[in-house]
Amino acid sequence: MSKEKVQIFDTTLRDGEQVPGCKLNTDQKLVIARRLDELGVDVIEAGFPISSPGDFTSVVEIAKIVKNATVCGLTRAVKKDIEVAAEALQYARKPRIHTGIGTSDSHITHKFRATREEIVERAVTAVSYARTFVDDVEFYAEDAGRTDNEFLARVCEAVIEAGATVLNIPDTTGYCLPEEYGAKIKYLRDNVKGIEKAVLSCHCHNDLGLATANSISGVVNGARQIECTINGIGERAGNTSLEEVVMILRQHPALDLDTNINSRLLYSTSKMVSESMGMPVQPNKAIVGANAFAHSSGIHQDGVIKNRETYEIIDPADVGVTESAIVLTARSGRAALAYRAKKVGYELTKLQLDDVYREFLKFADVKKEVLDDDIHEIMQVCKLGEIRAV
Ligand code: MN
Repeated sequence: MSKEKVQIFDTTLRDGEQVPGCKLNTDQKLVIARRLDELGVDVIEAGFPISSPGDFTSVVEIAKIVKNATVCGLTRAVKKDIEVAAEALQYARKPRIHTGIGTSDSHITHKFRATREEIVERAVTAVSYARTFVDDVEFYAEDAGRTDNEFLARVCEAVIEAGATVLNIPDTTGYCLPEEYGAKIKYLRDNVKGIEKAVLSCHCHNDLGLATANSISGVVNGARQIECTINGIGERAGNTSLEEVVMILRQHPALDLDTNINSRLLYSTSKMVSESMGMPVQPNKAIVGANAFAHSSGIHQDGVIKNRETYEIIDPADVGVTESAIVLTARSGRAALAYRAKKVGYELTKLQLDDVYREFLKFADVKKEVLDDDIHEIMQVCKLGEIRAV
């Protein structure tokens, strides 16, 4: 039986692009949007059309070229925002307007200087107005993470009645614990009248490093959309990382959930976004970091050479990485050295390996990493250069 699908809502071009220094021009955004469509994301949040003429143009052009994904534009709960978003999305095959308002006491009191009643009314007005332009309207309850569940349920019920098709429950400040966020989603599933008519969506931030855990807790408790970005980029400490949630669902069959993502494109997409935004990926980043499939300690290398699964839970090929890297350092053992030596053409006997390994350790203590060229040099030093099979 095929697994239930979780929709992947990519906001690399909206929340991701809010990162200082990551601003992209329309042409760059088009290249990324085309790739996201190929990758298989279900929704591309293309921008915030009213925020600038450049953003408006980008949303228009992205809407024209995207073939499969829904194209979404962000708005505040403001008439003019919604009109401009609708105009920007006019060429989209599947347009979605994403509107909303802050619902936590802190947002209501300090940001809007309003009452709860006024907030519900503004939310309903915005959603109803957006529905006059498009059939697909997502509502976000900003700072839902710090909104009490009872009021949040009231807002959700009202906007579903006004025609919202997706309910975004953002942990805007990245404060929630996974159990707490999951319980919030469950509370809404259990207490909001008409909830079966809408999809619950997780939008988590990574201020405490919990964005991925919170999103997974959300879908385990009944959410069916995750809002995320390539490489987890986004405001402050970033958003949920797309590659992480996709691979968690894929590697854990017991969750019985999957996505439409072609995971083999994950690594190259990560590189594309990192290069075009000038935003490097940390080497120890899960799934797409340079060291995600590199093994450098002797014990691990020996295990991986004998059987990859001893130290790898993902086949690198499944995320588009050609192979696991056996990195030679002073912590490496004979198995790794013999393996790499063979790769560059030297088949060593046990006795030869003892000799070569002694010489290798001298090199490795001086250098951080022993490369293929160094192996050739070591062979010359050991007078074994001629055994190289061509
Ligand atoms: Mn956000």
